[in-house]
Amino acid sequence: MAKHSSFPPVYDDPAEQATEKLRLTLPLINKHKAAATPVNYAVWYEYVSGENLALTNAIDNLLGKNQPITAAISQALYEKYVLMEMPKRLETTNTGLKLVVDNTLDNITEVESTTNQCLSGFSNSQIALEECEDINDLKGLLSGILDDTNKMSQTSSALKNNLKEYAQEISRLKQELSAVKEFAKSDALTGLLNRGAFNDELLNACNSDNTETALLLFDIDHFKNINDSFGHLLGDKVIQYFAGLLKTNTPEGCIAARYGGEEMAMILIQQSESEAFKLAEKIRLSFASSRLKRRGRDDTIGQITVSVGISMIKPNDAPADIIERADNALYQAKESGRNQVIIN
Ligand code: GH3
Ligand code: MG
Ligand code: MG
Repeated sequence: MAKHSSFPPVYDDPAEQATEKLRLTLPLINKHKAAATPVNYAVWYEYVSGENLALTNAIDNLLGKNQPITAAISQALYEKYVLMEMPKRLETTNTGLKLVVDNTLDNITEVESTTNQCLSGFSNSQIALEECEDINDLKGLLSGILDDTNKMSQTSSALKNNLKEYAQEISRLKQELSAVKEFAKSDALTGLLNRGAFNDELLNACNSDNTETALLLFDIDHFKNINDSFGHLLGDKVIQYFAGLLKTNTPEGCIAARYGGEEMAMILIQQSESEAFKLAEKIRLSFASSRLKRRGRDDTIGQITVSVGISMIKPNDAPADIIERADNALYQAKESGRNQVIIN
């Protein structure tokens, strides 16, 4: 599955599924007379995966208008929907910072040059003053010194103003950079951490000295049916609703992330296995007893449930080890009838 809301994108389809998608992707590339380049491949691979809804909609829209997906369009789709415009945003911030630094250096060079000119003027005036005997010459010399002093004062106050402006610009760019950083870590649909950020957090948890850390994997039951019966938009709302439930139940210092489409994860730091189980049960029961309604309608869409797999991090666990155990637990929860929590 392509985790399209991560930057950089994370592709972790098992080999069999990836091969199946290769079989579907290549004919599409051929059909659209595109070259099998990495960019075209990523675009059509994500299209056949059906996970990147924004990309799928954009392509379907173009195809609906009989517009060919040229190499240039494919590149634009790739940058917008696969790379989520991150290179462009980083480039803008980078250019902005470079401009500020260049302008500051130019200004300082200008001040330096004016100061040198004035200093040389002062030095000449000093020699002339020593030799001056006439009051009118003295007046002329003093007026020259005053002019140079004024020039220096003007230049330094212009520099001060410019530096003030640049400081504001730098603080704006700093905000933009931290927004880009946050954006790169969060999932667009739910606002939870995305898969890339989750991977980092899980690695940290595996490497840390914390004695008790649990990984919880949540997977909404029969979610495909919800999409099929009520449409993808409502499916998205259900994902958002569940993510909200996770958010409100995430203890301080712990992590909630969107692991994949309708799969979410929680890393419970410094919490025992029984505490993890209790929290998972609370979330499961709360979700199962929610009665979601469509906008403008009184009837509910029926009960929706979630299955949960839990495993505790063991010493020397790599992220793949703990994920495998939690995933096995989740599989057992599904096999045993769904809407339940299993510990492995
Ligand atoms: P199970 O109980 O075994 O988990 O069944 P399921 O139907 O939930 O599982 P399956 O993996 O077969 O289907 C998951 C579906 O979730 C398929 C995919 O189209 C849908 N999906 C994935 N991401 C999104 C999303 O962002 N929005 C919506 N609406 N659907 C999504
Ligand atoms: Mg699933
Ligand atoms: Mg599911």
